[in-house]
Amino acid sequence: MAGNQKSRQASEQVRELGHAAVDWISRYIERAPSLPVLSPLDPRDVLASLPQHPPSDAEPFAAILRDLDEKILPGITHWQSPNYFAYFPANSSPPSVAGDLLSSGLGVQGMLWATSPACTELEIRMLDWLVEMLELPQHFLSSNSGGGVIQDSASSANLCAVLAGRERATNFDSNENGCDQGLTAYTSNQAHSSMEKAIKVAGIGRKNLRLIAVDENFRMKPEALAAAIREDKRAGGVPCFVGATVGTTSAMAIDPLEEIGAICGEHNIWLHVDAAMAGTAALCPELRYIHAGLDLADSYCFDCHKWMFTNFDCTCFYVRKRNELTEALTITPEYLRNAASSSGSVVDFRDWHVPLGRRFRALKLWCVIRSYGVDGLRAMVRHHVKLTQMFIEWLKSDARFEIVAPGSLNLVCFRLKGPDSATEALMQKLNASGRLFLSHTKLSGKFTLRLCVGQTYTEEEHVREAFELIQQHASELAMGAR
Ligand code: PLP
Repeated sequence: MAGNQKSRQASEQVRELGHAAVDWISRYIERAPSLPVLSPLDPRDVLASLPQHPPSDAEPFAAILRDLDEKILPGITHWQSPNYFAYFPANSSPPSVAGDLLSSGLGVQGMLWATSPACTELEIRMLDWLVEMLELPQHFLSSNSGGGVIQDSASSANLCAVLAGRERATNFDSNENGCDQGLTAYTSNQAHSSMEKAIKVAGIGRKNLRLIAVDENFRMKPEALAAAIREDKRAGGVPCFVGATVGTTSAMAIDPLEEIGAICGEHNIWLHVDAAMAGTAALCPELRYIHAGLDLADSYCFDCHKWMFTNFDCTCFYVRKRNELTEALTITPEYLRNAASSSGSVVDFRDWHVPLGRRFRALKLWCVIRSYGVDGLRAMVRHHVKLTQMFIEWLKSDARFEIVAPGSLNLVCFRLKGPDSATEALMQKLNASGRLFLSHTKLSGKFTLRLCVGQTYTEEEHVREAFELIQQHASELAMGAR
């Protein structure tokens, strides 16, 4: 049959192209440590190298791979380099790459249970496994009132939490009639910008978001939160959402969830906990203190695509009561109706986030968890935390540097003593060297370098080289300034 022949041809072609692509990836991972970590290209360099118009005739895959090497690779910042220490990582691992490839091969779109039962049910099982692996509250289990779902990003998860909180606070009326009920929301002034974005997108309005002050360790001050809520209520406002952070982006600060949770309970406000980066640390029992008080949260998210060796995108988002989330997000046009959904006996993940369509992301997570085992993942996290502590000790031994925030988990915030300009110049010089990449923030108004150890292939030698390079460049800058 013609159809079978097409499938046979496609099968051959996938084998041929797939082998070439996998060989390319394998060589790339090997080369990554020696490539300049931060792409040195100028704006529009890549664009200028690309033809203005698409080809009319088919081109061989070898030509595409050649251009990948010559035109695209120079414009890549190497997130998979062991010398990558910037922002938070988007780490990866061989089982994850393979899992993602398998997901592409299946090409499933899992919007409904019926559109691939395994896509939904593997995801349910993986998210339940993670509750056990991180010792998360039991109500996040699918067998209890809640459950988890994979989203594309923590930003999306934060948005969904805001939407659910908004709906619950208005008795599910704002979806119908808009939100002019005087809704107010709260997060610390150290929360990730996606919280602010979520408040804007959810129609609550940025002017109704209170950025709560933090203490000297950059943790939300519960008494300031309580005061802000009281003030808004006195003025007739309707507090609907508190976003706490476990592992803030700038300083890896951990908000006091127990106190914040008690305040939210008293006022019946949705508490969401964003642990995008730090959550993975809870694989290790000795680091589970980060989640003290999490049982008071209505929702929670963390990113396997940051520190759990799983390719972007893989945010795990949990809710205490799944009905509150699905009621906020569900909508059923005729063309999506089916017997399984109508029976109420299946989960349709389309109701758990904003997009309808969804990739089979659980597959890469399954590959990662099974390939390393929980003990293997734990060991990798512990290794990163140990390397970070080593780096902190080295920094302390050099009087030119100051550590700006308490060293927490796998992030170090530090600067050269003195004016901001010196630290800024140091960062530029380091990143221009191509030998490492780190990024910055401002803490207490001071320009601060952030070094995050979370890349899968980072070893002690890379952290040591980073420290020596930082010292060397600091010396050169000081000599130049004389
Ligand atoms: N929340 C926190 C605390 C983060 O640090 C980040 C990114 O670094 C995000 C949310 C956004 O993550 P994503 O890229 O998954 O949207």
